[in-house]
Amino acid sequence: MLGLMQDQPLLISSVLEHALQAHPQSQIASRTGEESTHHCSYADIGRRAKQLANALTTLGVQPGDRIATLAWNGYRHMEMYFGVSGMGAVLHTINPRLFPEQIEFIANHAEDQYLFFDLSFATLVEQLAPRMKSVKAFIALTDRSRMPVIGVPNLLCYEELIQEQSEQFIWPILDERVASSLCYTSGTTGNPKGVLYSHRSSILHSLALCTQDGFGLSSADSALLVVPMFHVNAWGMPYAAAMCGAKLVLPGAQLDGQSLYQLMDDEGVTLALGVPTVWMALQQFVEAHALNPAMDLQLNRVVIGGAAAPRTVVETFERRFDARVLHAWGMTEMSPLGTVCHLLPKHRDATLEERLDLQASQGRSLFGVSMKIIDTTGAELPRDGKASGHLLVKGPWIASQYYRAEGGPILDDAGWFDTGDIASIDPDNYLHITDRAKDVIKSGGEWISSIDLENAAMGHAAVAEAAVIGIPHPKWQERPLLVVVLKPGKIASKEELLSFLEARVAKWWLPDNVVFVEALPHTATGKLQKIKLREQFQDYYTALSGSPKKHIQS
Ligand code: ADP
Repeated sequence: MLGLMQDQPLLISSVLEHALQAHPQSQIASRTGEESTHHCSYADIGRRAKQLANALTTLGVQPGDRIATLAWNGYRHMEMYFGVSGMGAVLHTINPRLFPEQIEFIANHAEDQYLFFDLSFATLVEQLAPRMKSVKAFIALTDRSRMPVIGVPNLLCYEELIQEQSEQFIWPILDERVASSLCYTSGTTGNPKGVLYSHRSSILHSLALCTQDGFGLSSADSALLVVPMFHVNAWGMPYAAAMCGAKLVLPGAQLDGQSLYQLMDDEGVTLALGVPTVWMALQQFVEAHALNPAMDLQLNRVVIGGAAAPRTVVETFERRFDARVLHAWGMTEMSPLGTVCHLLPKHRDATLEERLDLQASQGRSLFGVSMKIIDTTGAELPRDGKASGHLLVKGPWIASQYYRAEGGPILDDAGWFDTGDIASIDPDNYLHITDRAKDVIKSGGEWISSIDLENAAMGHAAVAEAAVIGIPHPKWQERPLLVVVLKPGKIASKEELLSFLEARVAKWWLPDNVVFVEALPHTATGKLQKIKLREQFQDYYTALSGSPKKHIQS
């Protein structure tokens, strides 16, 4: 017997329509680089998203066509999130920090029909335009007075494109399973692969973000998206914010500590989301200028994800900002949210130290994400917080295959997706990511967690950032090497750092050596680029039996 409830597809356009009805005056603040902070409302976004949908229709855009963006977080990008997907086309957000060859590959692979870009990417577009074969026109996200002078023949102006269009547009009733947006993974190995989100997956994922055990997003929030709209739909926040009427604060290209601090202060930010490297820079700015964020700001939650949240970063937010950290884990293939770290009633009396230990965990899975860990034979491991194995996930906002089936099947026979992470799960369902399978250090038949070692090293007052990599070793297969960036003006010797670690990790985990560098390499999404480090130092321990390489100073 079927239920007798209304059958309405879950569509991104319905989120916008709800925003227009329920909270049209909630704000979107953005820094576009064109003027001081631009403010508009969901009503403005809705009106202009409809104009955009009409403009795209005039340009001949068909359902399913890919419309690309090379853009920072800003209100015009937000209009595209709703206008493009709402009309049935697919918003393809390209990460501008990728190598130009990768961008070219991605745009051609996706067969993008139009490309919308922010002014800061004008030169990049000029360079790539002749090689983007399917793109019919390039649209600068600006007005006529600021149009870039570049050698691109089919160049259009966004404001001109939409200004003559009607503000009325009837959103099509789509099958909720059709594609809404496309995002390529950074492709640390091989070519980038496209993850194709659907209206249904995006809506279900956004509902989960709004729950209290998700990000607890509500109309009372002013949410700063440091996480870029060109990567995994800014963790789904543009949809979730429109759903509940949260104010959105979009920082544009200025992601340095000072700019973010100012924006948080100006826009009454209560919730901020980003990767650890961004927060390290903000905290260093606060430290260097002896600021008092707990007094200045209204920040009460910070979501840290994309890489493990270092304990010191969590502690600084708690102590200096009086803000609670929500440590979250996920990946592009998971829309991205899988787990969020909240405490349970039994932790109510935990001391700050105990709480910080708990927050090192990536947290508990939300409804919609099933997870399990398996050993190398495929047997499921116990959820006892001790056994650690390959982490598999399943759920309605997790990819079933890559765009154009690139790389072949990605699910096992029972529909599980291998995340590529090594993890343990405890009896309370807390996930602890040990490492990426490719980053875990295999020493004498045992595993050493590079994440835990990095976390411990970053607890030292002189350390700005730390990376630990497994380096081939003649006796132990691999041994950890600690690569450190010191804070400006601070000093620490190798011996001091090793004895600091000795008190915090098992003795056999101790790195065999420490290397000091000026800066660490990061990926396009702000994560440590360990592949590069491993290449740089691959024969470090084998060379030590002879003489260390000249470029290595230890
Ligand atoms: P890309 O695939 O482009 O590098 P993703 O955002 O998809 O970017 O990366 C997902 C991976 O990032 C996860 O599989 C995991 O290894 C790592 N990751 C994400 N969040 C965390 C976290 N909180 N702690 C540890 N690792 C994390």
